[in-house]
Amino acid sequence: MTHNLLTVAYIAASALFILSLGGLSDQETARRGNLYGILGMVLAVGATAFSSVSGTGYGVLLAVGIPGVVIGALVASRVAMTSMPELVAMLHSFVGAAAVLVGIANYLQPEPSLVGVEATIHQLEIFIGVFIGAVTFTGSIIAFGKLRTLIGSKPLLLPARHFLNIAMLVASVGLGVWFMGLDSPAGLLPLLMMAAIAGLLGIHLVMAIGGADMPVVISMLNSYSGWAAAAAGFMLSNDLLIITGALVGSSGAILSYIMCRAMNRSFMSVILGGFGAGSGAAAPASSSTSGEAVATTVDEVADLLMTAKNVIITPGYGMAVAQAQHSVSEITKVLRKRGVEVRFGIHPVAGRLPGHMNVLLAEANVPYDIVLEMDEINEDFPKTDVVLVIGANDTVNPSAVEDPGSPIAGMPVLEVWNARTVVVMKRSMASGYAGVENPLFYRDNTRMLFGDAKKNVDAILTCLTAAESTRKPLATVSS
Ligand code: NDP
Repeated sequence: MTHNLLTVAYIAASALFILSLGGLSDQETARRGNLYGILGMVLAVGATAFSSVSGTGYGVLLAVGIPGVVIGALVASRVAMTSMPELVAMLHSFVGAAAVLVGIANYLQPEPSLVGVEATIHQLEIFIGVFIGAVTFTGSIIAFGKLRTLIGSKPLLLPARHFLNIAMLVASVGLGVWFMGLDSPAGLLPLLMMAAIAGLLGIHLVMAIGGADMPVVISMLNSYSGWAAAAAGFMLSNDLLIITGALVGSSGAILSYIMCRAMNRSFMSVILGGFGAGSGAAAPASSSTSGEAVATTVDEVADLLMTAKNVIITPGYGMAVAQAQHSVSEITKVLRKRGVEVRFGIHPVAGRLPGHMNVLLAEANVPYDIVLEMDEINEDFPKTDVVLVIGANDTVNPSAVEDPGSPIAGMPVLEVWNARTVVVMKRSMASGYAGVENPLFYRDNTRMLFGDAKKNVDAILTCLTAAESTRKPLATVSS
């Protein structure tokens, strides 16, 4: 493949990646965005393979590429939506590992054409690329462990942890100075030592982050993996890798910023960790988690829904676990047919990855125009008859607003407690991912419907459709 053709292919692939990101920013165009991304990647891999591989190289490429494609396709097609963040974390770790390995290989096989300042810059690129790659690699593995609950979600707060981070940074810089003064392969020792320290830094940084800050960690590692790929692009003098890495790096950084804003947290406070340790301040009476929670039944909830004028549904992680979205969509249809106004309120970090709830509701064909963001719907709760909280917990916790001592204080939440009646559907009184108690369950206007969300939503649907078809008052149908 000629150099010009390769440049054209790379420009086309870059344009497809930009179109892909644009498409993925809206649920109506997300499928198209995904398709652009796939096309761009096929073009990028194909053009790179044809331009840089020859002869027996194709055999090696196919020998590693085909199993990679098969394993990737199998894993991606089998993964449940609720496990998607784990998969993403795992994939980020591969990008980090690749950057480290490319850096080391690049160092051991120096480009003879690079001399003087160019050679120095290249050596610096290798050092920085290996550093970012190692932090991304180990940080992503810890994030994977936390999301899989192999490691507890509580932050690890070592004494003098900020000092430890600074010490590791200073040591890396020191090793960098040593590395820059040596020629290949003599600099391998400081390079490997720095990689080990950066790996520890990645572990320590992510171990210190806990609970509800995990969404930001995922998008932040996404950003790091982009910068690691861009660094690999510099090492390999591959323009497309630089562009793609920069796109992933900057979009991940923007996403992290948006998520921090949605959670009312500063980026630095998230990175430095410590969430979930609790401040120890006593909760005021308004955020009490004592008293009796009132349980309700499927029949009562169906009755409430049939007599309501307007209903807001706020789904969370539990709806995804139970796979209740299709039944929720059916309930919505029945109620809307009956003239009840039904809308959905989506918290930006509901579920286990950004946009999780939107994807599930779109999959269940819930119309986009009744799915509203938290900011669009929050002031409507006081005018709402019934709120159905389906498998959500942290995202509807009033202590975020009312209890300055709560670990989630200041995080905007869906203010469901302002509605006339709130029905919380979950299996027990357990706390959510952030591990924070929820006073909502003990409010006078809250009713707890215990059990698996899918089973309960199905049972409510049966009651509603039976009442619709017989056109009898619901109480006689369900009793
Ligand atoms: P939460 O994790 O706060 O709560 C989910 C609730 O669902 C649990 O309390 C659980 O209660 C219930 N549940 C689980 N399974 C079922 C089931 N089968 N049927 C019924 N209920 C069920 O979820 P939210 O969506 O409210 O909040 C998301 C949390 O996750 C936030 O803390 C967020 O920061 C964090 N997070 C978000 C990410 C993102 O990118 N969006 C990424 C990583 C973490 P019970 O066990 O009693 O049934």
